[in-house]
Amino acid sequence: MKKQIAVVGGGYGGLTLAFFLEKAGHAVTVFEQEERAGGHLCTVFHKKECCELGVVLGTSEALIKFLRHLGVKAEYKYFHRNFLGADGKKQAQIAPGEIAAFQEQLKRLPEILAPYQGALNALGWENIPDALTQSFEAWCHENNLHTLLKVYTPHLVAFGFGKSSEIPAIYALKYLDLMTLSSMIESRKLIAFSNGATEIMTRLAQKLEDLRLNTPVTGIIPGEHHRVTIASPVGKEDFDAVVITVPLDQSVIQSPEHASLMGCYRRKAYNVLAYVAQQNYRTTTYFSHNFEKEGHLLLLYSSKPDKPGALLTAYATGELPIKDLKAQIDVDLKVAGFKADRLFAYKQWQTFPHVSGAKIKDGFYDQVKTCQGKQGIYFSGSLTCFPTLDKLTQYLSDFANRYFGSEE
Ligand SMILES: Cc1cc2nc3c(=O)[nH]c(=O)nc-3n(C[C@H](O)[C@H](O)[C@H](O)COP(=O)(O)OP(=O)(O)OC[C@H]3O[C@@H](n4cnc5c(N)ncnc54)[C@H](O)[C@@H]3O)c2cc1C
Repeated sequence: MKKQIAVVGGGYGGLTLAFFLEKAGHAVTVFEQEERAGGHLCTVFHKKECCELGVVLGTSEALIKFLRHLGVKAEYKYFHRNFLGADGKKQAQIAPGEIAAFQEQLKRLPEILAPYQGALNALGWENIPDALTQSFEAWCHENNLHTLLKVYTPHLVAFGFGKSSEIPAIYALKYLDLMTLSSMIESRKLIAFSNGATEIMTRLAQKLEDLRLNTPVTGIIPGEHHRVTIASPVGKEDFDAVVITVPLDQSVIQSPEHASLMGCYRRKAYNVLAYVAQQNYRTTTYFSHNFEKEGHLLLLYSSKPDKPGALLTAYATGELPIKDLKAQIDVDLKVAGFKADRLFAYKQWQTFPHVSGAKIKDGFYDQVKTCQGKQGIYFSGSLTCFPTLDKLTQYLSDFANRYFGSEE
């Protein structure tokens, strides 16, 4: 039966879900609080060169297929990669003497992961064993995967997913499944968006019937006959269901059960600073010695992995005011020998909505699953799936079918 569905959040999660729901025959209204849809997909331009302040790449065949279906120009690129030490000198990610240990651990990994396939293969968060709720670091030590830990860590820390000593093992392993891990290690065939990531949002938005910009959802009020009211500064409207794809203030949701679950999500500040450089660079550089420090350079990404370009994007965690953050990053760049001319754009983001290992162990995601659809309210997108474009795309297609059955 055709339903009227409200989707809260006009990021990749919200728009992609709306796309699948419309495809399944429903009438969908997307509410986005900003004057542009896209959230973490945010391309800015310096002269004609595009620079990503948010999402930069994808990894899966399924994603590239979906993007082509939307008419988005995407291509495989090789990302050149470096690790620099505190002295600004190049260093190997792992010492030559550790290579044999790394190979041995990588070989053992599938066997170690075998008992967890239910949790690791699920599209969202399901069947999470207690062993994977401890920190990723503790889990690696428990399984004698000390060298593998060193290989995983840069991709977790530098992309804002958290320190290995803090992030629950399930998040780390879900993000860096073996295919993604090997794509990252070898920097091979990563998917880049030829005209900038925002083209994805433009194409998705063009396909949707009812996208409301500048319309923050301020109230979700369950009503009678399984209807739910959405309040925004524009007024109130009734729907058959609402799907929330973004963390909201608890006070917005007038269902105590959902509001209490929403209150468990945490996020952290993650900063992106885009510089115009004095010379052309093509290499993405990790600064491992800064991984424990807030407000310092973690990753420096060249906008042109295929041919050298003059834009550099610096990544750092922490809540520092931009003036102080920039001063610190400028020093880090200088020590590392990068000639960054001037900052031309920056953005402070919030990292992915996550809960503590203790909450996961307490059955947080099972409680979310039990609550799905109660009083017409659903959680989806980054709230219930690891939030990369690759994982979200598959998950949201499945979510639309699972809860709102295809009409085709
Ligand atoms: C710097 C950075 C780089 C990243 N790079 C990559 C990458 O290269 N590849 C990758 O796959 N993933 C990457 N990610 C992860 C990325 O966040 C996800 O892939 C994806 O973009 C998340 O989409 P989303 O819709 O869940 O959330 P968001 O992008 O956060 O979108 C949520 C939207 O909801 C809106 N909103 C919030 N509150 C309300 C409200 N009350 N009412 C209405 N609207 C509201 C927001 O304005 C926003 O537009 C990156 C994340 C960060 C922070």
